[in-house]
Order: sequence, then structure tokens, then C-alpha cells
Amino acid sequence: MSLIELSGIEKSYRMGDNVVRALRGASLSVERGEMVAIMGASGSGKSTMLNVIGTLDRPDGGSYVLDGEAVESYDEVQLSELRNRKIGFVFQSFHLVPRDNALENVELPMVYAGERASVRKKRAAEALARVGLADRMDHLPTQLSGGQQQRVSIARALVNDPVLLLADEPTGALDSATTGQVMELFTELHAQ
Ligand code: ADP
Repeated sequence: MSLIELSGIEKSYRMGDNVVRALRGASLSVERGEMVAIMGASGSGKSTMLNVIGTLDRPDGGSYVLDGEAVESYDEVQLSELRNRKIGFVFQSFHLVPRDNALENVELPMVYAGERASVRKKRAAEALARVGLADRMDHLPTQLSGGQQQRVSIARALVNDPVLLLADEPTGALDSATTGQVMELFTELHAQ
């Protein structure tokens, strides 16, 4: 069984009288342990595809099975629970909580999962160590560089031990040296 099985996915956006068909019968299989990049021109539907894969957006047609679960039958509550358990998200603009330090930001997915405080602190600290930020746990996002903020968001994405790590232009806000470091980190994590 593939980790991701998308078949005949359709997604259109209505803009006044126009309909933009962003995904036209898109199919994709991804196996466990694969690292896949979706590439294409701006406007070709990459973000739409990632939003469907991340269950943030529902397709108009087609079928999607994630890790054996037929997600089209799920309601919003079931979907948010599935995302919390199975998917780690990394975004271009980090999406960290500004008033929370690095450790607290990484704890957040475990708060939603109902994990005890002692377990949360321990696992968040381990995840930050994994991304090379053991010495920055009490820093606020504003006290971290862009590359470090993205590392915090990668630690947060990993902390519930997801089956899938999804990143939409994760280096889009970083300079080229930092981009190299963040991509290296993804490669390392993938190898693990
Ligand atoms: P990419 O990520 O490859 O740049 P997108 O998935 O963002 O492409 O967009 C695919 C197409 O769908 C584009 O033509 C875009 O203008 C259109 N689109 C995306 N999101 C919306 C939306 N919320 N409303 C209307 N059109 C949209």
C-alpha cells in the first residue's frame, strides 16, 4: 500500500464568470520513505496539489487515500485529527506563534494531541536538538534568524512523528546559503 494514492483529482476555482481548473485529473502515488519534489511554473497548481495532499482543501472529484485512510469520507473534525497525527507541515513563512519561545512552539502539536506537559517538554527538546537548535530553546521567533525559525517549524512538524512531512516552498523566504542548510537538513531527516 502506497503512503499517498491520489487518483483523478479535480479542483477548480470560480472567479466571477471564469472557472480556473487548477487540477485536471491529477494522479500521484508516493511510497513510504520517498522524498518527492513537485516542480512547475507559477500557477501550474503545485500549492493546490499540496493543499489537497495535506487535507487542507477538498478536491471536487477523484479519490485520495493517505496511509490507508480514505480521507474524502472524513468530516472536518476527523480531518484535523488526522492532520495532527499523520502530517507535519512546513510553510514558506514559518507560521510560528510570536509570543511563544522555540520550545513552546514545538510543543503546540502535542498540546492539540492531548499530551502531558512533561512528555511535551521532553519530546520538543529532542526535536529541537535534532534540527541543531538545542541551545536556542528559550528564544522567541524574533530572536532567531530566518533559517533558525524554519528549523523550529521543521522540529514542530516532526514532533508528533508524522508519516508525511509536507513543505510548500520551505526555502522561499531564505537566502541562498540558508536555503542550502535547510535542504541539507531535509535530506538528513529523510535519510533517518
Ligand atoms: P502554483 O502553486 O503552482 O503557483 P496554485 O496552485 O497556487 O499554483 O494555483 C493554480 C491556479 O489556480 C492558478 O491559476 C491560480 O490563479 C488559481 N488559484 C489558486 N488558488 C485560487 C483561489 N483561492 N481562488 C481562485 N483561483 C485560485
